[in-house]
Amino acid sequence: MMANLTVSFQPYSKLLIKAIYWYNQSMSNYVNLYIHIPYCKVRCKYCSFYIRPGTPERVADYFSAMKKELLWFKDSHEISGFTTIYLGGGTPSFVEVKEVEDLIDFIHDNFGLSQLKELAVETNPEDITKDKLSRLLKKGMTRLSIGLQAWQNSILKDIGRQYTNEEFVEKIKIVKDLGIINFNIDLIFGFQGHNIEEWIESLEKVIAMNPNHISTYSLEVGDDSTFGLMKAKGKYSEIEDEGNRQMYAKAREMLGSSGYVQYEISNFSKPGFQSQHNLDFWEGNDYIGIGASAVGRLNSVRKENVRSLEKYIRTISDSAEWYNEIKLSSADLAFELLLVGLRDLKGIDVTLMNKKHGIDLYKFFEEKLKISQKNGLLEISETTIKLTEKGLDLQNQVVDSLI
Ligand code: SF4
Repeated sequence: MMANLTVSFQPYSKLLIKAIYWYNQSMSNYVNLYIHIPYCKVRCKYCSFYIRPGTPERVADYFSAMKKELLWFKDSHEISGFTTIYLGGGTPSFVEVKEVEDLIDFIHDNFGLSQLKELAVETNPEDITKDKLSRLLKKGMTRLSIGLQAWQNSILKDIGRQYTNEEFVEKIKIVKDLGIINFNIDLIFGFQGHNIEEWIESLEKVIAMNPNHISTYSLEVGDDSTFGLMKAKGKYSEIEDEGNRQMYAKAREMLGSSGYVQYEISNFSKPGFQSQHNLDFWEGNDYIGIGASAVGRLNSVRKENVRSLEKYIRTISDSAEWYNEIKLSSADLAFELLLVGLRDLKGIDVTLMNKKHGIDLYKFFEEKLKISQKNGLLEISETTIKLTEKGLDLQNQVVDSLI
């Protein structure tokens, strides 16, 4: 499961993606909201997101602190409501559903939701119950994301996941029995020893379940994760680059021939089932996030919350110590918008980006863009910059050419 925003261009990686965007203030004060729930049953071995594994502690205090942060945003930035809400983490489904219900009620009571396009919730299979999902549906959940990651029980065990594929199938039945059609299944490729046959089997099994959205991420090993520490000692390595590219190509081929349209480097959907929250992000909208370690960006200012649940709870009432702010230079913002925007396969609408942020990407990257275009990595028109097929295949080269 994802923590929040990263702006790196790790190929096929799970880019963060959990964040909020808010529209240019001149348009409205309706913004996108990302909520970080930092609790997980155990830490997956590749994960270094800010989470608290084990029995959830101080949950009521934590949710109370997030409500305070919401009110702080309302007062200090005059936010009137939200266009999307994304509950991520961590594992939102791991805490008592009552806490989540109360938080959604609080948002209803204090903000306008007339512009709300999506209310998405991330889950892990072991937490899914009929009662939990029914209650979230009653509170307005419109999209569900479920982390499978791999089909093979041996891999699930190796990477520290807490369910078997048999249990996963049962949970998908609950989802479907409740009539939920807007759900996503996450897969990861590139584990140590992962082979193409296993990857094909994972894709086949997931496609057979017919979700309307599938995400496929290249393994990203966090430095201070279990695998990251092993890697530092030479005891773990992701599969090599060529194998990684082969798996990515296989995912594109199989999903494409099964009716899924690739709309982002790692994301595929049936028509009409794209993630609205993520689309807003890739399109360069500003975003805010609440909760420990949450990140946001508003009017060229990045806000990063402390990576400590205790400090977040302790300081939110009486000081500004729960966050840091960094004023982004035009160059930093331009680079971020370019890298994030290129993930969107329809490309970057340069005119729109200029209107939103006052940044002319053509001017900022003129020579570099020309070189990448000449090398067949980017397609550039009067209004759009996008990856070519070659650029999609050689994403590292694209990043290198733009640095
Ligand atoms: S479910 Fe696993 S990958 Fe997701 S946040 Fe929790 S520990 Fe990290």
